[in-house]
Amino acid sequence: MTEPIDLPPFSCEGCGVCCEEQGLPPGYLVPALLLHLPEALREEIAFHQEEERQTGRTRHARELPCIWYDVETKRCRHYEYRPDICREVPIGGSSCLFWRERRAAPQGDG
Ligand code: SF4
Ligand code: SF4
Repeated sequence: MTEPIDLPPFSCEGCGVCCEEQGLPPGYLVPALLLHLPEALREEIAFHQEEERQTGRTRHARELPCIWYDVETKRCRHYEYRPDICREVPIGGSSCLFWRERRAAPQGDG
């Protein structure tokens, strides 16, 4: 079980909650948006997209961490290539608070 996160947030340091159930880097579903990525990262995403096709469920639906998320450091492994949506999440904004409050809520409440 992951420890609850104290609110309110002032920094992403030691948080990473909004990456924990993204499954894949959000916003990279359109192939054209992948063109600026190194080939190895494109192949990694393609590998997991194929796995999603084969299982019939997205990693996001399975509430799995983003494939670029490092659970040990709670950081993005490819920060310089993170999608725009990841860059635009304001710390302390509604999306940020949603994820942090979701994590702070008692586990098993649905
Ligand atoms: S944006 Fe918010 S939820 Fe995401 S890592 Fe930063 S503080 Fe945590
Ligand atoms: S791409 Fe990076 S910042 Fe965006 S959800 Fe994945 S790990 Fe988090």
